[in-house]
Amino acid sequence: MANRVFIAGNWKMNTTLDEARALAKDVVEAVGSVGDVDVAVCPPYTNLQAVAEVIKDSNVKLGAQDVHWEEKGAFTGKVSCAMLKSVGVTYVIIGHSEQRSYFNETDETVNKKTKAVLASGLLPIVCVGETLEERKSGSMDAVIEKQVKGAFGGISAEDASKCTVAYEPVWAIGTGETATPQQANEAHIFIRKIISELFGKETADTIRIQYGGSMKPGNAKSLLEESDVDGGLIGGAALKASDFAGIVKPK
Ligand code: PEP
Repeated sequence: MANRVFIAGNWKMNTTLDEARALAKDVVEAVGSVGDVDVAVCPPYTNLQAVAEVIKDSNVKLGAQDVHWEEKGAFTGKVSCAMLKSVGVTYVIIGHSEQRSYFNETDETVNKKTKAVLASGLLPIVCVGETLEERKSGSMDAVIEKQVKGAFGGISAEDASKCTVAYEPVWAIGTGETATPQQANEAHIFIRKIISELFGKETADTIRIQYGGSMKPGNAKSLLEESDVDGGLIGGAALKASDFAGIVKPK
């Protein structure tokens, strides 16, 4: 594993304000001074500001779970990059499979969001991954290639190198099913190959590729030991600070 490890917790639609403050405090206590791993938490929009306050003197960074690509205006229910920046956000998750399957996220909207996030100086975490049917039918590579090329269309190599890609096989998200370290690594190597075709080897080598899908303390070490796994995007296990810490500092 050549790149600095990056572990991000996606809290999804969990935590009220008090719960978010308490979880953030526990995360800071558990991993807030870790020096050799990049760590971020991505609470719901309503808790970003409060969590920013809790993590401000620690090494834990703030992420958002989505964004709208427009700068401002009549887009009821949406939040812009400038709004996220103004409350201390560093990272933005884009194209999560739940957004793709429940909220009409497409490769085109992923691309618009990625461009907007980069233009604002925030850092995208672009999610890609195949469903079980796609894996079984042998279309996995084509699906992932389309998602990666869709997300990065019209983006410069310099900007691409600021992105993180999260490989999240849909069949492993929230199911308890985890890709084996070998399956994850094969997918990561394939994603890196596409990025190399798009932007050259240097960008491909330095871009970080996280694995996401039922990652937990018990399987984190073996996944992170793989050559092309540079971190994790964590759902369920990010809601308990001790589990999250067990992934940031796997034994
Ligand atoms: C996710 O939704 O990004 C995720 C990886 O979830 P979980 O860890 O719960 O599978």
